[in-house]
Amino acid sequence: IPMPTITLNDGRAIPQLGFGVFKVDPIETERVVSDALDVGYRHIDTARIYDNEAGVGKALADSGIARDELFVTTKLWNDDQGTQSAFDAFDRSLDKLGLDYVDLYLIHWPAPAKDRYVESWKTLEQIRESGRARSIGVSNFLVPHLERLLADADVVPAVNQIELHPYHQQPATTAFSRERGINIEAWGPLGQGKYELLELPEVTGPASAHGKTSAQVVIRWHLQSGNIVFPKSNRRERMAENFDVFDFALSDAEVAALTGLERAGRVSANPEEVD
Ligand code: NAD
Repeated sequence: IPMPTITLNDGRAIPQLGFGVFKVDPIETERVVSDALDVGYRHIDTARIYDNEAGVGKALADSGIARDELFVTTKLWNDDQGTQSAFDAFDRSLDKLGLDYVDLYLIHWPAPAKDRYVESWKTLEQIRESGRARSIGVSNFLVPHLERLLADADVVPAVNQIELHPYHQQPATTAFSRERGINIEAWGPLGQGKYELLELPEVTGPASAHGKTSAQVVIRWHLQSGNIVFPKSNRRERMAENFDVFDFALSDAEVAALTGLERAGRVSANPEEVD
């Protein structure tokens, strides 16, 4: 079954389901990402701050998979926001990954107290112009941050990567982004295992009806909602489970019941406060 792709506002295609490596130990990353590639993932989401770009790069190189079949995202860390500092940080990330270009480069957090995200965006625009990041986007941007960025941007971000799972769907940020052609990437798609998501009847009901697992139901909800997702697991059997979601579909009523769980239930940091 072919992997669905989403066409970004710059015309480039992104595999809708990928694999994230937040909290994957640098020592284990090469093995974990090799397993993920073996399972079939072709889209890998990392970041400078995860400290595992080198392991990702080794796994990509060892895989023998053609570069144009891979989609690799990394992110600018808050301390590196600026002009020259962002160029330098991008060079270090590319070097650690062992790549000539990344498919997507993101500003990791707006870090509003630093007040450098507009300046940083100008740097990302130049990096994109050079071809070394094919697409550029943002992460954890709320509506006021997007409004300010767009007022000065020549390039509209391709994506906004935000915390998004049934208890925290960020309807205002999601609607604002989508109206402007900015695709939504959902991080923490399984709620980072921090609440009883996989035990809720809205999840377990469809799971038994379709003969799938709770995690597969939640991933399916993301895909049918139009989100780009990259669940994380160190365990190969769960990587395979999370990838095996293209042989069933939730009904409109099942999707609506999951969407109805929204309760502004953030499980991680507030973007206004991260610096
Ligand atoms: P996630 O929601 O993917 O949860 C991962 C956890 O869920 C795993 O550690 C495991 O405990 C559990 N899990 C995974 N598969 C399972 C299964 N099949 N059954 C039961 N439990 C399962 O959370 P995440 O890793 O934080 O988010 C995914 C990716 O999003 C990250 O790896 C990273 O790439 C990205 N991310 C980005 C930001 C950001 O600020 N931009 C922040 C956090 C994460």
